[in-house]
Amino acid sequence: MERTLAIIKPDAVERNLIGKISERIESKEFKIAAMKKVALSKNQAENFYHVHRERPFFNDLTTYMISGPVVLMVLEKENAIVGWRELMGATNPADATEGTIRKDFAINLEKNSAHGSDSPETAAFEISFFFSQTEIFS
Ligand code: GDP
Repeated sequence: MERTLAIIKPDAVERNLIGKISERIESKEFKIAAMKKVALSKNQAENFYHVHRERPFFNDLTTYMISGPVVLMVLEKENAIVGWRELMGATNPADATEGTIRKDFAINLEKNSAHGSDSPETAAFEISFFFSQTEIFS
């Protein structure tokens, strides 16, 4: 079993898509091992996305991530990291495959509705960034 961090981003929470996105997750046999709705601080958003701090879009991205609440989830399944990224689709919804979350729900490259860890190392960092072990239920 592998774990990954999923985020339903502010654009999707704002449009009442928590249920639709969670349904897709559960219908693909992921276990939602942890889940909470939170408003990130600017500092948290900047630390979470620290790998992007030199990118020109860093301030726009972190400002967007605090524009409204997000839903944080720990997903569990075999090959959860790749599996969740496949279910989300490409970063830019214009490039995303039909039937993926970003193709169906994302607004644009920035407001792309969902986040997923991109490697085991990132998943470990991102999960522990938001959840303690006692908040995760296998
Ligand atoms: P991801 O792993 O698919 O989320 O993609 P990245 O790690 O490359 O980028 C992180 C997030 O930054 C994306 O999901 C988008 O929300 C945002 N993002 C990526 N590229 C751009 C860009 O060129 N402009 C803006 N404004 N946001 C971007």
